[in-house]
Amino acid sequence: MSPGDRNSALTIAIVFPDLLGTYGDGGNGIVLARRAAWRGMGVELVQAGSGRPLPSADIYCIGGGEDGPQVRAATSLNEDGTMARAVEQGAVVFGVCAGYQLLGRSFPDSTDRAHDGLGLLDITTRKGTGPRAVGELVATMAPDAPHQAGGAALPRLTGFENHGGVTSVGPSARALARVVRGVGNGGGDGTEGAWSGRVVGTYLHGPVLARNIALADLLLGWAVDPSDSPEPLPPLDDSEETALRTERLRAVERSDRGHVVSRLFRAGR
Ligand code: GLN
Repeated sequence: MSPGDRNSALTIAIVFPDLLGTYGDGGNGIVLARRAAWRGMGVELVQAGSGRPLPSADIYCIGGGEDGPQVRAATSLNEDGTMARAVEQGAVVFGVCAGYQLLGRSFPDSTDRAHDGLGLLDITTRKGTGPRAVGELVATMAPDAPHQAGGAALPRLTGFENHGGVTSVGPSARALARVVRGVGNGGGDGTEGAWSGRVVGTYLHGPVLARNIALADLLLGWAVDPSDSPEPLPPLDDSEETALRTERLRAVERSDRGHVVSRLFRAGR
């Protein structure tokens, strides 16, 4: 279907789960498909394996992975060209970690050699010089980040990160969020993720859309309603998702208090 055509099924593609399945980010596609189906929409979830042409889809979810598979994924997506064409026609692309980095201009392999990304986001990733960023990540949405249908800002993002790359956001893209806890893009400006049009990238695993259903509904809303002010989607019973989110955010708060207590303890206070 073309994005916004409510009469035919919405197609959600999980891109190269065989290469970029290390962190369970395929769950993002499952979350989107379930939230569409629960609202009575026809939906097709496609596991788009590498080594064959990428299917056309309304939403592409690209997950995190190791450096070698990330290079292979970027090379074949560039050779295939389907995703870039789909973005021109309004498709939604959601990339996580390796899947975020490869949407940009370039990213490094394990030897720090730069490889071409897809150029769908104005971001550049280099190898960090410090320790790998590993742990829970909490970030509040940037003021100019996309808002929920209806106009409210999205609530803060929760997830976990695990990456060596450091990403800078160029002038044609915007940062998605500001880091409250964790590293995020890591370039020293306190930003996390990036977006441009309907292409969104983040360092958050989780799967992030299971922990952040408002973000899931933002992406879904774009795919079902291509207008500049999409209608809010019908509400769902989100009590289980909210409980998960609250539990994860509380765990970070508890460990922050733990860090403070152990710092005070070490300082003899
Ligand atoms: N290989 C990339 C990095 O370390 C991406 C890692 C990931 O996807 N979690 O920066």
